[in-house]
Amino acid sequence: MADCNETLRELETFLDSELPDETRAAIQAHLGDCVDCLQAFDFYAELRVVISEKCRNEEIPPGLIARIELCFNEDFDGDSKIG
Ligand SMILES: [Zn+2]
Repeated sequence: MADCNETLRELETFLDSELPDETRAAIQAHLGDCVDCLQAFDFYAELRVVISEKCRNEEIPPGLIARIELCFNEDFDGDSKIG
């Protein structure tokens, strides 16, 4: 089964539906078991909707995604019970 770090790393690809079936299944299974990752997933999915609505005619700046990922890392570093 995928662990939290792997799941979070693959979230973006997962949302783009670009993962092999096997990896998608592993991540889906992990999301079913892990509230922390499920919340991150929900947040990420919602965020992408907001971004796509705001940037209908524009590319998403790469720096924005990097900053969002930084926020996730800070969140998860602060919660040492994971893993
Ligand atoms: Zn997890």
